[in-house]
Amino acid sequence: MKILVINCGSSSLKYQLIDMDDESVIAKGLCERIGIDGSKLTHQPAGKDKFVVEKAMPNHTVAIELVMDALQDPEHGVIKSTEEIAAVGHRVLHAGTTYSESIIVNEDVKRVIRECFDLGPLHNPANLMGIEACEAAMPGKPNVAVWDTGFGMAMPEKAYLYAIPREYYEKYSIRRYGFHGTSHMFVSGEAIKFGGLDPEKAKVIVCHLGNGASVSASIGGRCVDTSMGLTPLEGLIMGTRSGDIDPAVVQFICNKEGKDVNEVLNILNKKSGVLGMSGGISSDFRDIENAKKEGNHLAEVALDAFIYRVAKYIGAYTAAMNGVDAIAFTAGVGENDKAGRKAICDYLGYLGVKIDDAANDVRGKNAVISAPDSKVKVMLIPTNEELAIARETKRLI
Ligand code: AMP
Repeated sequence: MKILVINCGSSSLKYQLIDMDDESVIAKGLCERIGIDGSKLTHQPAGKDKFVVEKAMPNHTVAIELVMDALQDPEHGVIKSTEEIAAVGHRVLHAGTTYSESIIVNEDVKRVIRECFDLGPLHNPANLMGIEACEAAMPGKPNVAVWDTGFGMAMPEKAYLYAIPREYYEKYSIRRYGFHGTSHMFVSGEAIKFGGLDPEKAKVIVCHLGNGASVSASIGGRCVDTSMGLTPLEGLIMGTRSGDIDPAVVQFICNKEGKDVNEVLNILNKKSGVLGMSGGISSDFRDIENAKKEGNHLAEVALDAFIYRVAKYIGAYTAAMNGVDAIAFTAGVGENDKAGRKAICDYLGYLGVKIDDAANDVRGKNAVISAPDSKVKVMLIPTNEELAIARETKRLI
């Protein structure tokens, strides 16, 4: 069975065609600059050369048509007809409080995605366009929505409610949702399997550390807390996002700089994090690390603060679960930065966490990186959101 996974951003579209018999990737690709001059599709069939199409993509419908053409291209394609695709799985950002489980798309699901445009203003409209484009390109083919907020919906009220007047939750569903849900679901599940942990009771903390970064705590695969909130701005220090901050800072900057709330929120989302703290060096963690190695103090402080905040969240989530069996690192920084993993774990000696330096010298595969006598199993688990979406899609159809 072949499943197509689609992940639409506001001006991009990523796809993977996955053979669910062995969960291998048959082809993957990326459409960039949708709706902007200079659009381009890069198609990568497994084991063959890349294929680039430079054609105008005024919207996601045209992008999907070009993806279908690339998949069926006589020379670079991997299928003869779209009949070979059993279903399409879509990453959809936000379902508000309506859905937590993945679902086959119908008119009601599309209505909910539309109603949540103000909760996910960049992603939900693009996600809906992707679904409608697939419906147009492949009439009758099942489309499945896998929610980025789905995993976090299992949080108890004490974790998801903000301490603000109740009416705002009741009127506008203002609460903590959590994001990177497919990644946290996938990695916590893999950590339980790979670590040989009790699937019903295992207490797992997943550190998804990439350009966007979040931590989750789950017991038996059910989320009990996660660091992102109503939007992805809450929680850890990220590439460009501030993470947790006193909301009075917003008012202060507005007053001092003559900016409005939207402008300051834009600064907190796009110009803060390690980019802002380092004085503008970069949002890319490798650049920050290189600047630190060259003796740049601001880069060093930005990295120290990033690591410190991750360690604080691990401490908090250990308390939330009254213990922790495993900590799993994933995403760009979590999977590649062994020094960062070690620095975070150096804060956790009080939990009996011990890293094995030789085992920690690893990337790109599931691995236990803690010493045999560590009280908590620490693991590297590469995330695979596309596969998680494909598995959900297969399960539903
Ligand atoms: P993601 O958002 O998951 O794609 O992660 C992207 C981030 O991972 C970027 O900031 C990269 O700089 C970072 N990254 C990738 N490789 C490394 C590495 N070896 N050391 C530190 N950061 C890395």
